[in-house]
Amino acid sequence: MIVAGGCVAGAGGSAAAPAPAAMPTADSHAVHGSAAPASAVPVGYVKRIGPDQGKLTTEPGGIVLLTAPAAGEHSRATTPIQGNRRWTWHSAQPLPAQGGHRHVDVFYTPHPDDETLSMAVLITAAIRRGDRVLVVGLTDGRTTGAIRAINAELAAEHRHTATVAAASGAVSQRVNIPARLSQDQIGVARDAELRRAVTDLGLSPKDLVLAHLDAPGSDRGALVTVSEAAQVIRTFAARYPGATHVTMSDIAEHQQDHLDAGVALHQLLAAGTVTSARWTVSRLWWRLPSPAGTWALPTPSDRDRIRRAAQEYLTWDPAAGKYAVGFYSVRWQFAALARDVRDRVHATGPKPRGDHPTPRPT
Ligand SMILES: [Zn+2]
Repeated sequence: MIVAGGCVAGAGGSAAAPAPAAMPTADSHAVHGSAAPASAVPVGYVKRIGPDQGKLTTEPGGIVLLTAPAAGEHSRATTPIQGNRRWTWHSAQPLPAQGGHRHVDVFYTPHPDDETLSMAVLITAAIRRGDRVLVVGLTDGRTTGAIRAINAELAAEHRHTATVAAASGAVSQRVNIPARLSQDQIGVARDAELRRAVTDLGLSPKDLVLAHLDAPGSDRGALVTVSEAAQVIRTFAARYPGATHVTMSDIAEHQQDHLDAGVALHQLLAAGTVTSARWTVSRLWWRLPSPAGTWALPTPSDRDRIRRAAQEYLTWDPAAGKYAVGFYSVRWQFAALARDVRDRVHATGPKPRGDHPTPRPT
């Protein structure tokens, strides 16, 4: 049995395993946001949400018992190039410096949180080796269904704060938390969570690049397409020759953005554009068949870094622009990560028949 949750929504996914029907919609998206929520003076309080807090065993769909997929369901994806071929990706920010003599590892996280949930052991290990490590956020995750829960929480806090202000006689006291967030603001909040998390993992903030592939006007809007992801990876492959490129699995996966990123990397490896590639498997899908792989295990200090990074997604402090979007999106995956800090990694190869052994929490 795998305890898991989240990160399964997404349009176009071919979810056939028991999808957690009642879970908040996981990362999906659309555009890069505009201004951050206005909140000049911190008021209110900071709520640290423990990953195990809540209705872990009672939330419908929160605990998923994954079953083996139907035969043939996960053949090597052959998604064709989709969308508008005239659309081209350009980085909105200068690409980070080249690696010099150091090996470069580029991690493409489809949504803010995948880098911590599924790639963090590889990231911290690469930093510890002295590699030059870059993280590319493919999307802002701005269309997450978590916006509903966050806005409900904000509305409640807003009412509470206003009531307290009125009761204290300070009728003109400003209420410094927003009553609700727009999709743009959710995107900004998620990118901020990502930036704090990768910093906790040991990156310099300038080595995080945001690709905004879910921007309105991008190819197929909120969706990540194979074509879009390939454009991004191709850009990094050209700037960092010989780099190792890592993204989510192209096989053991159901979330369409994850799959498309994985397929793009596979195609570029097959074409020789990329010479070194790895794929990581979401803990939701650790039991799905995939090419032979390994478990990446953290050192104690790496584990501490990863847990700090996870905490960035679990912090509710609206006056400081922190909305625990990761928690409201995929809380069960963070709960699972807290208990079992490992990455499941595979390279290319034939899809094995049968299932992986059930991973055992450490
Ligand atoms: Zn994701």
